[in-house]
Amino acid sequence: MSDGTLSPRFWERKRLDQMNRAEWEALCDGCGKCCLNKLEDEDTGEVALTRVACRLFDDSTCRCSQYPIRHQFVPECIVMTPRNIGDHAYWLPDTCGYKRLWQGRPLEPWHPLISGRTDSVHEAGISMQHRTVSEFEVADEDWEDHIIDD
Ligand code: SF4
Ligand code: SF4
Repeated sequence: MSDGTLSPRFWERKRLDQMNRAEWEALCDGCGKCCLNKLEDEDTGEVALTRVACRLFDDSTCRCSQYPIRHQFVPECIVMTPRNIGDHAYWLPDTCGYKRLWQGRPLEPWHPLISGRTDSVHEAGISMQHRTVSEFEVADEDWEDHIIDD
C-alpha cells in the first residue's frame, strides 16, 4: 500500500487491497468503537462492547490522543489492514466502514466519505463521543456493568 490521494468514489470502485494508504484510512468513520474494551464469552465466542475506553481515547474528539505513537503506550492496539480485516470483523461494530465494505455492504449516509463532514457520524448518534468512561476509572471486573448496544 502506498500513500496517495482519494480517487472519486474509490470505496465503490476498488477492492480493499487495491486502495492506497489515504483511501484505506478514510474508510474509518471515526466512531471510536474499536477503542472500547470488549468482553468475549469463552463458550459462545460472542463479543460485547463496553463503554470503557482505552486509556488513550479522547472522549471529546472521539479520537486516539496519541495515534502516531500509540504503540509505545498500548502495544496491543490493532493495526487494521486489508489482510487482517477478516480476522477482526467478528468484534467490530456492524457500522464500521471497514467491516461494511469487507461484507460487501455500502457505506451509510452519515459516513464522512458520503456526507463530506466528519461530524455527521456524531450527529447520527453512531459514535462514542461524550459516551465513554476511561479504563482508569473502572475495574476490570465491573466492565460488564457498562456493556453497550452497538
Ligand atoms: S470501529 Fe471501524 S469505523 Fe469505527 S473507529 Fe474503529 S475502525 Fe473506525
Ligand atoms: S491506542 Fe489509540 S487507537 Fe489504539 S485502542 Fe487506544 S485509543 Fe484506540
